[in-house]
This record gives sequence, C-alpha cells and structure tokens, in this order.
Amino acid sequence: YVIPGQRVVEGHHSYVLAYNMITGIRVAVSRCSQIPKPLTSNEYNQVSKMVFHWEGSSTTPSSKYEFKFKDYSPEVFRHLRSIFHIDQADYLLSLTEKVALTELGSPGKSGSFFYYSGDYRFIIKTIHHSEHRHLRKILKQYHDYVEQNPGTLLCQFYGLHRLKMHTSKGLLKLHILVMNNIFPPTREINERFDLKGSTSGRYTDIQKAEKQVRTSLCLKDLNFLKSNEKIHLSPQRRKAVLEQLRKDVDFLERTNIMDYSLLLGVHNMTDEELNAPEDQEPSFLSTRDPETSKIFVLPDGGIRAADAGGHELPVIYYMAIIDCLTNYSTFKRLETFFRSFKHKRNTISAVPPFEYGKRFYDFVVAAMTPSKKKNKNVKQD
Ligand code: ATP
Ligand code: CA
Ligand code: CA
Repeated sequence: YVIPGQRVVEGHHSYVLAYNMITGIRVAVSRCSQIPKPLTSNEYNQVSKMVFHWEGSSTTPSSKYEFKFKDYSPEVFRHLRSIFHIDQADYLLSLTEKVALTELGSPGKSGSFFYYSGDYRFIIKTIHHSEHRHLRKILKQYHDYVEQNPGTLLCQFYGLHRLKMHTSKGLLKLHILVMNNIFPPTREINERFDLKGSTSGRYTDIQKAEKQVRTSLCLKDLNFLKSNEKIHLSPQRRKAVLEQLRKDVDFLERTNIMDYSLLLGVHNMTDEELNAPEDQEPSFLSTRDPETSKIFVLPDGGIRAADAGGHELPVIYYMAIIDCLTNYSTFKRLETFFRSFKHKRNTISAVPPFEYGKRFYDFVVAAMTPSKKKNKNVKQD
C-alpha cells in the first residue's frame, strides 16, 4: 500500500538538510554509551556541540556540507531509548543506513516538517523553539514518568537536536525531535483521526483533500462525531486504556501542556490476518513493553477491538498522544484572549491545560462508550 510523502533523494529541495540531520544524529548517537550509565542530574543540562565540514576534525568525520549540530542531554535520551526497548544499533541503522528519509511536508498548521526514517519506524519532526525549550524543562519529569508508566500513551521521544546551517535564504536554525511512528510500517491504516476533544475548526473536508492519498488523510473530531464511530474495546481493556489515559493527562496538566491530540489509526484486518496462527512472529515489533503493559496486548503495539461482551472484532487500533509539547504560557494565553470573542469557550482548543485535559479526557471516554441503542433514526445535522 502507498505510504504518503516524498522520498528525499539527491536533487530534492531538502536533500542537504536531510543529509545534515542524518549525519548529525548518526555521529551524536554513536558517541553515546553502549550500555546506559546511571543518570546524574548534570546529564539533563548537558549539551554536546559538533562542527562539521569537509576536512573533518578530531571529533567529527568529514562531511559533504558545512553545518553545526547540537545534541541535547544525550545520555538521558540514551536512557529513554532503552526504556522504550530501542536497540542502539537498530536505531542507528534505521536512521542512517543511507539518506533514506521521506518528507511528509507540513501536515499541521504549525509549519513543522516531518520526515520518516527509511524503514518508517521513526519520525523526525522540526519543532518550534518554545517546544524545544519546554521539553528541556520537563525532560526529567518526562523521563521519570515514562519509566514508571510502561503502558503510557504519550509519544516516545528519542532525541533532541539543533541543526544550524547556511542556505541561500540565510542562516537556518532548526530544532529537531526524533520520535516513534505511531503506526506500524507493516499494516495499512484504513482510517486515521487526530482528536483533540474540541470542535472548532476540527473538520477535514474529504472532498477538498481528494488529491491526498485516501488512506493517509487525517480526519478530525467533527469527522469522528459525524461518522457516529466508536472505539470498540472489551470492558477490561477499555478500563485499562482509560486508567492510563487519565494518568497521562494528569502528567500533561502538571507540566502545563495543551493542544495535544489522540492520534488514532484504524486497521481493518484482512482474512489472511484473521486466519494467521496465533503464535506467528509479527513482522514488526512495537517499542512498547507488552509484558508490563496490560493495554497494548499485540506485539506490534496495536489494540484489538472487541464488543461490549468481550468478543474480538476484526479491527486493530493504534493510538497515542501526540504533539504534546505546547506550553500553555508561551503563546496560547493570547490566543485564548483573542479567540474567545468569536467562539464559545468550550469549542476553542486554546484553553488552559487543566480545562484542556478534562475536555480531552471526556471526549475519549465518550468515544469509547458504546451507544446504548443503535440510534440510526436519530436526526442528525
Ligand atoms: P499543529 O500544531 O497545527 O496541530 P503540528 O505541526 O504540531 O500541527 P502534529 O500535530 O504533531 O503537527 O502532527 C500532524 C499530523 O502528523 C498528525 O495529525 C498525524 O497525522 C501525523 N503525525 C504526527 N506525529 C506522528 C507520529 N508520531 N506518528 C504518526 N503520525 C504522526
Ligand atoms: Ca497537532
Ligand atoms: Ca503543534
């Protein structure tokens, strides 16, 4: 099936950028300790700087292009990768085998760019300076939280870097974050939703977006509500997911974060998959810990759908909380102030973290609550 995006090959407008990103990450990661050392408090503030040019230096290999690269808290991210079961060699290979990135362009409104690693396991996102700053500020809290919550739905962060290079348009400074692709590269995602729990502007016009590959189209809250769709889970799994979600949302409230989404992918199982033997080796292994997490039962990180009676349905969900680095105090206060003149408050997405979290959580609870009756006759607008 088709994976969206443009392969970044020589001649592509982002080729030099991608090349530098990959080179920087490769050198930074290979400098980390093989076996994670116990973390000291200094490690959180550590920044390692590298200068690349064609001659190379005692600490950096020769590079086709000139650029500067900073690696933030390398040993902390080394630890995080090990918490998320990412093997150091695998990580290097996925990101750097060759310059095999796919540029997804800028799907959100923020102007961030996304790149997939060659094997689609990892995503590199360019982030805003304020997000970068906020992640550095909460890094210890994030680290401790994910360490204590192996079933967390929060997006997994693997590396934070800064790239500085000269371009025809002047000096370019990019903050980049490496994270997990929520969707496994081995399964087609038939439908994807980006859910915030607000309704203002949360609609994707499918007709207008026709040009995009149908299956890569990201739908939003209003599409979800309109479709009358639900997330069907067995009562036991639903309870576990919601318990974890509650904790995750509490964490985001504590760290003053808002504007995040639940990214939900729906995979309709094929006959082949349905008939596959139970103990078949999955072709893709999730970075989530299936032993300790009672939620993500499938080895590839998916959650099998079931009806209220616990009978399995031929659907697998992939879900996580993404875009979770927007610090309320930096710029959303202004947005709330201006936009509240035009909209009812509960439909605006820019509300303080506590309100945002509550609305988000309530929305997901409702999305996971099966409707009592098949209300096909209920009038809809
Ligand atoms: P905005 O701030 O306008 O919402 P953004 O530029 O911060 O957008 P995100 O919200 O992080 O971007 O992501 C935009 C879209 O990219 C998501 O709706 C989702 O479809 C896809 N995406 C983002 N992160 C991931 C991920 N980790 N795995 C898979 N898909 C992702
Ligand atoms: Ca977003
Ligand atoms: Ca964002």
